[in-house]
Amino acid sequence: SRSMDETSDDAGIQVYLRIRPSANSLTYFQRDDIDLKTISVKVPKNEDSIVNNSRTGYNFSFSGILDDKANQRDVFRTVGIPAIQNALAGYNSTIFAYGQTGSGKTFTVTGGPERYDDRGIIPRAIAYLFKTIKDDEQKGISYSCFITYLEIYNQSGYDLLMESNHSSNNSSYDEAKRVTMLEDEYGDFHFKNLSMHTVTTEEEALNLLFLGDTNRVITATEMNQNSTRSHCIFTIVLEKRTAGADVVTRSKLNIVDLAGSERVSRTSSTGQTLREAKYINSSLFFLEMVIVALQEKSDRKNENVHVPYRNSMMTSVLRDSLGGNCKSTCKTIMIANISPEAQYTDESISTCHFAQRVA
Ligand code: ADP
Ligand code: MG
Repeated sequence: SRSMDETSDDAGIQVYLRIRPSANSLTYFQRDDIDLKTISVKVPKNEDSIVNNSRTGYNFSFSGILDDKANQRDVFRTVGIPAIQNALAGYNSTIFAYGQTGSGKTFTVTGGPERYDDRGIIPRAIAYLFKTIKDDEQKGISYSCFITYLEIYNQSGYDLLMESNHSSNNSSYDEAKRVTMLEDEYGDFHFKNLSMHTVTTEEEALNLLFLGDTNRVITATEMNQNSTRSHCIFTIVLEKRTAGADVVTRSKLNIVDLAGSERVSRTSSTGQTLREAKYINSSLFFLEMVIVALQEKSDRKNENVHVPYRNSMMTSVLRDSLGGNCKSTCKTIMIANISPEAQYTDESISTCHFAQRVA
């Protein structure tokens, strides 16, 4: 019943590289300005590189490169608008920010705290959404909007939007926010107690984002953990009704701030850190497996390719947005964030390799 919309004709995942600006100009990247899509990485000499012994450079290509000159508006235009438009057209969309801690994931997704111009993809998507809702009213189209904000830490889910009583002791506070995942008869996953909030204005939606981000920091502190070790999924659920038609279209936009992708060295970490690293590495690996399987499925036009959603909580939750029920109409965008300083070359190369594998 759905007509193919121009926003969903490029099925499959798009991968963009974003390079955050640097205070010093130690950048080791050479950008190919001809097509703005490829980049060369020169491995600095005398650098203690673990990825590389023999090679002095790599070439990577992307759907596009957002370099240190790209501002938040450019990022929203390139990545945010296609995703929110796809969701408004009735299709599920997901944006992931991937990269090592400090590479700019949260800045990209949520924004910087200081300047209004620094606001990230989520607040801009919210503004775009409510402007469209207002415009569409004239055309007899109405929407209901709901928001959820989920944090995944060590394969457990936590509700970032639960109003909580901070005077309670740490463990019960933590437990109260914990959500339980259930599988329905169709194999889709739901959360039993993840709060879903109706929003009717931009301000209400922004307040929820702010509440969730505040809770993220509080929880991290209370659990004596680093907030870069969890994945956060901000989801806007849309229900669209057209006057005179009986159908309600339901779609989602998920915006995911992934846990830092840096490899934790086994020799220097013990206990909780090592446990976290194991969970993070495996959940990022399982995400990669799912995306690669979906690419294979669409490249080979083969419905029989097994997509291993069940391996992790994140891929289970995002199943219906990553191809589960909607196949080619889901839009998935990965932003690979890297730091430009030479000391992070290994991690940046590793991020670029990840990006190439899922592209
Ligand atoms: P991550 O979430 O990947 O750990 P952050 O988003 O917290 O990284 O970014 C690390 C620091 O760099 C923050 O102080 C952030 O404000 C700053 N930063 C990141 N990207 C940019 C950018 N494009 N422009 C200006 N500052 C940035
Ligand atoms: Mg962050």
